[in-house]
Amino acid sequence: MSDLGKRDKQYVWHPFTQVKTAGQPIEVIAAKGAKLIASDGKEYIDINSSWWVNVHGHGVVEIGDAIKKQFDALDHVIFADVTHPVAVELAEKMVNKLGEPFSKVFFSDNGSTAVEIALKMAIQYWFNKKVSKSKIMAMDGAYHGDTFGAMSVGERGYFNVPFEPYFFDVDFIDFPDGTNEEHILQQAELLFRSGEFAALILEPLIQGSSGMRIYSVDFLEKLVYSAKRNDVLVIFDEVMTGFGRTGEMFAFNHTKVVPDLVCLSKGLTGGILPLGLTVATEEIFEGFLFDEKAKGFLHGHSFTGNPLSCAAALASLTLFEKVETWENIKRLTEKNIRFAEELKKQTGISGVRTFGTILAFDIDTEETSGYFANVRDRVYKFMLEKGVLLRPLGNCVYVNPPYCISNDELDQVYNAVLSFVKELE
Ligand code: PMP
Repeated sequence: MSDLGKRDKQYVWHPFTQVKTAGQPIEVIAAKGAKLIASDGKEYIDINSSWWVNVHGHGVVEIGDAIKKQFDALDHVIFADVTHPVAVELAEKMVNKLGEPFSKVFFSDNGSTAVEIALKMAIQYWFNKKVSKSKIMAMDGAYHGDTFGAMSVGERGYFNVPFEPYFFDVDFIDFPDGTNEEHILQQAELLFRSGEFAALILEPLIQGSSGMRIYSVDFLEKLVYSAKRNDVLVIFDEVMTGFGRTGEMFAFNHTKVVPDLVCLSKGLTGGILPLGLTVATEEIFEGFLFDEKAKGFLHGHSFTGNPLSCAAALASLTLFEKVETWENIKRLTEKNIRFAEELKKQTGISGVRTFGTILAFDIDTEETSGYFANVRDRVYKFMLEKGVLLRPLGNCVYVNPPYCISNDELDQVYNAVLSFVKELE
């Protein structure tokens, strides 16, 4: 074991890991574009964009320069009773990018906090109005993060069994799988009519962590109309789907509906620094304007509005103004569609699907499919040997590359995936 490996074992507790049985972590010492470079000189294609964050790739000069410049001007500052230029500029740009009716941006640090804040805003909005609405509606299979509020509205099981007694009251609608939409919509409408629901929270059009599960625009639109008809606030968790991942800037841009609150993180800074945003409509914001201090949104984090993160996000947004970024997104989308056709001819797998830069399929397995499927470890090791860092979600194999990935690199990944699938026959 290398010295770094030994010291890692001695001092570090890794996320999402059963440390007792886990192998040695890969020692990544550098990264450029779509590639990670390990201490032994091996290179890996970062095909899942380092937990779906690194949308433009690694070592993007424009983002690095913006962070350096910002550091020289202002590194960090308290954000209550204080403001600074990059936070204001970012808020202004985000409101404009999201379009009507978005109006105000609340800063935090990651996807979970962005969600936590949206839930708290929705609950307090009704509280301030003296309207009693205590329930939240979410969708089966949802993942919204690992803090308590975010866990409460996520799929119960595997990850959060010990904490379940501490979760708040949530009604989960079934996942719309192409056969049950009408039934779900009727049930949701009935529940909404009870008047008990403060908010509906969804990953719009595609659930990430539950295995890149896609559902229809039509269903999403009808569900949102139903919520709005019944005065239920709508929260879209665009933490995974935002920033071009699905082929549009935000997943809700594929639809005719807009939420009341939107949660952003991951690709927001190009995946370089942590930052979360919860963006609200003016109507929500106005629900907090009272003479009583306690009716304000009394929430904040030490790093709220961190200037370095804001500068990175602004540089990333500038990259989204370049045609080249959108050409890359289109190129990946088209390549995925073509590769999906090839995959559909294979046996041993099912559910081949694409949505923008995301391509996913499920390996048919006798074992319980899902996150702990053993086949997951086989795919992971196989892909590493082929120079690809691909972490499947159980038996769901998926790619969501940085948009800068070259055609050759993507073909290398596709070929590795195909060889694995052919071995299954
Ligand atoms: N929401 C969604 C849709 C996510 O995919 C994730 C993370 N995978 C989160 C929230 C939580 O984000 P974070 O890990 O930054 O807390």
